[in-house]
Amino acid sequence: ISFPLGAFLLEVIDSVQHTTVTHVIECKCDIGELNVYADRQRIEQVLTNLLTNAAKYSPKADKIVVEAVRTGNDLIISVRDYGIGIPQAELDNVFSRFYRVKELHPSFSGLGIGLFISQEIIQRHHGRIWVESQEGSGSTFYFSIPAFKRKEE
Ligand code: ATP
Ligand code: MG
Repeated sequence: ISFPLGAFLLEVIDSVQHTTVTHVIECKCDIGELNVYADRQRIEQVLTNLLTNAAKYSPKADKIVVEAVRTGNDLIISVRDYGIGIPQAELDNVFSRFYRVKELHPSFSGLGIGLFISQEIIQRHHGRIWVESQEGSGSTFYFSIPAFKRKEE
């Protein structure tokens, strides 16, 4: 089923924005009238996970930036925060089930399941999810999904 990406992004950002008074979520989502073929509810779940992580793990920052770009048949959506970041040695682990960064302060509560589920959802969409991060200065999570319908579907 297809849905218009631009409106979708604004809607999800808006609903997460309502859950925080400390952060402002910016949207650099100038992708025109693009429709994507994807499970809207599942992609919403992924984006919500990334946005709530971004806010949770950046207690001293006030900005989160969402960006959407299209490159060929791929749509790449990113969520950038200016928070605690992830140690280089942990980058490969954060998508594992129940994994949480070890030296994490006890005030960051969670189960360590959000990114695992997000990865499952994106893989089922034939996409990719990955992260770039610098400890102490923030993280950017990316996911890609095909912008158009695959031939066999
Ligand atoms: P929950 O299951 O409630 O989402 P969680 O946030 O701990 O709990 P994940 O969302 O799967 O679990 O994230 C896994 C781990 O990756 C986190 O515990 C945290 O250590 C690290 N992490 C995730 N997002 C960020 C981020 N934006 N900045 C820094 N660390 C992050
Ligand atoms: Mg989480």
